Amino acid sequence: MSKTFDVVVIGGGPGGYIAAIRAAQLGFDTACIDEWKNAKGGPALGGTCTNVGCIPSKALLQSSEHFEHAGHHFADHGIGLKELSIDVKKMLARKDTVVKQNNDGILYLFKKNKVTFFHGRGSFSRTVEGGYEIAVSGGEPIIGKQVIVATGSNARALPGAPFDEERILSNDGALRIGALPKKLGLIGSGVIGLEMGSVWRRLGAEVTVLEALPVFLGAVDEQIAKEALKAFTKQGLKIELGVKVGEVKVNGKGVSVAYTDAKGEAQSLDVDRLIVSIGRVPNTVGLNAEAVGLKLDERGAIAVDAECRTNLPGVWAVGDVVRGPMLAHKAEEEGVAVAERIAGQHGHVNFNTIPWVIYTHPEIAWVGETEQQLKARGAAYKAGTFPFSANGRARALGDTTGMVKFLADAVSDEILGVHIVGPMASELIAEAVVAMEFKASSEDIARICHAHPSLSESTKEAALAVDKRTLNF
Ligand SMILES: Cc1cc2nc3c(=O)[nH]c(=O)nc-3n(C[C@H](O)[C@H](O)[C@H](O)COP(=O)(O)OP(=O)(O)OC[C@H]3O[C@@H](n4cnc5c(N)ncnc54)[C@H](O)[C@@H]3O)c2cc1C
Repeated sequence: MSKTFDVVVIGGGPGGYIAAIRAAQLGFDTACIDEWKNAKGGPALGGTCTNVGCIPSKALLQSSEHFEHAGHHFADHGIGLKELSIDVKKMLARKDTVVKQNNDGILYLFKKNKVTFFHGRGSFSRTVEGGYEIAVSGGEPIIGKQVIVATGSNARALPGAPFDEERILSNDGALRIGALPKKLGLIGSGVIGLEMGSVWRRLGAEVTVLEALPVFLGAVDEQIAKEALKAFTKQGLKIELGVKVGEVKVNGKGVSVAYTDAKGEAQSLDVDRLIVSIGRVPNTVGLNAEAVGLKLDERGAIAVDAECRTNLPGVWAVGDVVRGPMLAHKAEEEGVAVAERIAGQHGHVNFNTIPWVIYTHPEIAWVGETEQQLKARGAAYKAGTFPFSANGRARALGDTTGMVKFLADAVSDEILGVHIVGPMASELIAEAVVAMEFKASSEDIARICHAHPSLSESTKEAALAVDKRTLNF
């Protein structure tokens, strides 16, 4: 007899493992199936995010930022270094340790919350009375009265140039480059491309980014994107916009990319390695969705309603495998909301207050609408900005690039969007998220006492700037 669980979660990334923990907290007998293997073939819970995404990329960004500081900024503080070197293997080993700490942390959380974990592939086999039978590779099938699918996404390859993870790299290979490339090419100037490009540029690679779109970071507020482009160009990242990538050839030495530039002229780029980051595709491989008639949409994502219900009763889907932003915290919020809905509660995800972060230097973070979105919908709004160059803490840090920008309703003063490019934007944005979640006005933020000296004073000052009454600028 197959064991029956109240809730079976397929996928142990941020969407899946969080859904499983919340379901268990709510008293459901819960199982989670995940197939990711570590180098020794054991489980590596946490999905793309923990293994080849958010966590390892931030570990490498941290290492490379230290290197850049030591090479370029220590001298300003009177700190002299005779010799500076980078041991790439050691840097990668540290990254792997950070990943493992997170993998093991999730296994511990499963034990603590009594989530039964199956290491293997989960696939639908059939509909049974009161639930679904799920085959687990290498073991007995199990039955889930409710099933949450959280199978994530995979990197999209360029047509005709499959990933070999040696020369043509996805995010996976990009996080495992064992020796500093002299020349690195990047196709796509999105979040992942910019973060990976920054890591290797800081360590000394000559990095060229080819982007098909004519504008830089089209989803970001234009003023913020312009400021960021200026900073990245100054750092030495070569970013070419409006290009059309043609043939990509791997040769003995590296990779050659033929492309047409924005003026329509034929160009070629020869690099040691090429990272392709042109988006991600929802992953339903191996799920055997057909066995139960689970519906996919035209993009290959699992079709869900606003509350993550699929076309099948008792089957839900969350995270990268469904519509919406491919972000770990969006996946987590959906996981929690679904577990709570199964329990008859009112789980809710507010898509208007999901923060976005790009962990480059300067960091870029935003929540809510951009100025171009407000203009496009004809909204009456007020804007206020405050530059980090006028902030005492930023000066002390030696990190004064960028600004905080507030957008508020012209009549009610409700905050409609907050956009930051600058130091610790990833942390500063949390205040804006809280404010928007509570429908605060810019004056609310302007009247709150912020610690001095702190970068967060720039948030307060940008809020004051909405009413044209900054105190320090
Ligand atoms: C380089 C990079 C950097 C990123 N940085 C950030 C960041 O800083 N912040 C952020 O918010 N997001 C970031 N992301 C995006 C983030 O990783 C994803 O949005 C997030 O991982 C999605 O979570 P998920 O649970 O939906 O899917 P995933 O994390 O992809 O997890 C899915 C899991 O399901 C497993 N699985 C799939 N099919 C089956 C099956 N049939 N049976 C069993 N197991 C299965 C997979 O092996 C995997 O473990 C980054 C992504 C990349 C690639």
